[in-house]
Amino acid sequence: MGVPLLDLKAQYRELQTELDAAIGEVMANAAFIGGPKVAELERAIAEYCGTRHAVACANGTDALFLLMAALGIGRGDEVITTPFTFWATVECIVHVGATPVFVDIEPGTYNMDIAQLEAAVTERTKAILPVHIFGQCVDMDPLLEIAERHGLIVIEDACQAIGATYQGKRAGSLARAAAFSFFPSKNLGCAGDGGILTTDDDELAAKARELAAHGSTRKYYHDSFGVNSRLDALQAAILLVKLPHLDRWNAERRAAAAVYDELLAGIDGLELPVVRDYGEAVYHLYIVKTASAEAAERVMGAMAEAGIGTALYYPLALHEQAAFDTIAGWERPSLPVAESCDARTFALPCFPGITREQQETVVGVVMEALRS
Ligand SMILES: *Cc1c(COP(=O)(O)O)cnc(C)c1O
Repeated sequence: MGVPLLDLKAQYRELQTELDAAIGEVMANAAFIGGPKVAELERAIAEYCGTRHAVACANGTDALFLLMAALGIGRGDEVITTPFTFWATVECIVHVGATPVFVDIEPGTYNMDIAQLEAAVTERTKAILPVHIFGQCVDMDPLLEIAERHGLIVIEDACQAIGATYQGKRAGSLARAAAFSFFPSKNLGCAGDGGILTTDDDELAAKARELAAHGSTRKYYHDSFGVNSRLDALQAAILLVKLPHLDRWNAERRAAAAVYDELLAGIDGLELPVVRDYGEAVYHLYIVKTASAEAAERVMGAMAEAGIGTALYYPLALHEQAAFDTIAGWERPSLPVAESCDARTFALPCFPGITREQQETVVGVVMEALRS
């Protein structure tokens, strides 16, 4: 019996009647770009995250880019971030003309190691871009304290962490602004690409909205050079059906993670994810780490053979990516913890609705492969 990494078909079956009706309504109204569904989603997400504003856009990458651009981050500025994240995090820094500066991660949570953050601040540092990786918030209090001391902007990359909390507050409301992705496999996913940014800052929200609409607030009059980054009404309608179920789905992910924690406790040669008690994680992914890349390859091979979904997150840390060779004068830093994850950290199936039996199957295959 195989186990998928994520079961999106089951999620559709669960909500099929409502989803089909919502899609049908958009088709019947033929308002495909912007309109009431997008506005309704923006209000719902702002309320969910506890922010004054949410601005929908085409994807999570654009949400990050729009924030960078709207905040005036650009040439000559340094932005401190983590090397252990999806590539989009660093892409948006480079695309506004700024320079990424990487701080190593801490083992276990895979989040930026705040103890090493302040040493990375220079007089050119303009912003910090922490990523709540795999659905667990970064330790924001000490991070914000350092940011305050040096007058730095903080933007959350919350693309993997919708619904996660830190000291009782939701991801997306923990800093100046935040970016979310609605990519289908994210904890709240649409049926294509989608994204949104959140902030309490009226001016920032207005600027990001203007930039996302070709630098325009009035049709055919342009105050700046923006981009075309819109969320479709169809995607908004789908997300509005799914949002009321998000907290339950996240709770089911946490329950599944607790089962893995229990079944895999004390296994030699396998590091389990570490979760801090300052908030609730939403387990976008349940990541384990083996003692070597060979062991990871062996376990993942056995999983694939048994029809169990898995993937490396991430096979290669960002500061080691070939793209940096194209940046003149860029010096590759040494980040031993992030590098120790290369080809060794991978996901076990962990999704809403996964059964204990499915998890036992996964654990059986993993343990046997580790022993061989
Ligand atoms: C998914 C993701 C993004 C990008 O989101 P898209 O919607 O795919 O553009 C950015 N950062 C992180 C950490 C992500 O996981």
